[in-house]
Amino acid sequence: MDKSDVAGDLADILITEEQIGTRLDEMAAQIDADYAGKDVLLVGVLKGAVMVMADLSRRLHHPLEMDWMAVSSYGSGTKSSGVVRILKDLDTDLSGRDVLIAEDIIDSGLTLSWLVQNLRSRGPASVEIATLLRKPDAAKVDVDVRYVGFDIPNEFVVGYGLDYAEKYRNLPFIGTLAPHVYS
Ligand code: 5GP
Ligand code: MG
Ligand code: MG
Repeated sequence: MDKSDVAGDLADILITEEQIGTRLDEMAAQIDADYAGKDVLLVGVLKGAVMVMADLSRRLHHPLEMDWMAVSSYGSGTKSSGVVRILKDLDTDLSGRDVLIAEDIIDSGLTLSWLVQNLRSRGPASVEIATLLRKPDAAKVDVDVRYVGFDIPNEFVVGYGLDYAEKYRNLPFIGTLAPHVYS
């Protein structure tokens, strides 16, 4: 998908495809160094993290397994409900594993703080978080995040896995929507 296909829906491009790639290179190098000699279980949170999972995992150079969870906290709107439901659980036993959660975005932090607690209760060796985006001004709870791609303003963004009403996930960049899209 190109910007021109949805140009009328977009207000702005916040982070370009190239900027995302460069930052993921840096994050992957850091993760490779930090996890040297360890087998990582990369956990992706459906659906938003699909792009981050695909692009980050291909940049990592050591043994890796991937698993997926689906949780629901937002419905189709733009505000976190704070209530998290597991729609699809992991297939993997976490005991003794080094778990790295790959996320698209941390907004209020409610989903991730709940998820980290949930995964920690399963006896892993470690649980860390890598997120492409974080909105510091939207934080409602403190989440200890080891790897952050970009801190962004407190605006609703789409693209690179992130949707509005299930659209725009396939944009290769991060953008904001024009007001008319919401009404
Ligand atoms: P949190 O619980 O941190 O508020 O947000 C959890 C989830 O809400 C994220 O994983 C993401 O799926 C969704 N979300 C939060 N902020 C945004 C945003 O700006 N745009 C989109 N498309 N989804 C968001
Ligand atoms: Mg997410
Ligand atoms: Mg969504």
